[in-house]
Amino acid sequence: MGYILPSSGHVRLHRLWAFATFEDELTPTEHLHVLYCDQCHLAVSVCLQSPTFGAVLKTLNREDDSDDGDDEIKAG
Ligand SMILES: [Zn+2]
Repeated sequence: MGYILPSSGHVRLHRLWAFATFEDELTPTEHLHVLYCDQCHLAVSVCLQSPTFGAVLKTLNREDDSDDGDDEIKAG
């Protein structure tokens, strides 16, 4: 029991953006992950300094965070 990670790995960038812009809250698990994960911690910092989500993606060199292909999206 070392690292606390969501099942899909890092916290999704759009979740961090929502958190940084006070649109949504992180779950306790996500929050803990951000605390212990340099990469996600950095991403939150970038979100706080960026005017738009697009600017965040550019800064982090990510084109789109929504196509990771995990099981987050389910038809039903
Ligand atoms: Zn992470």
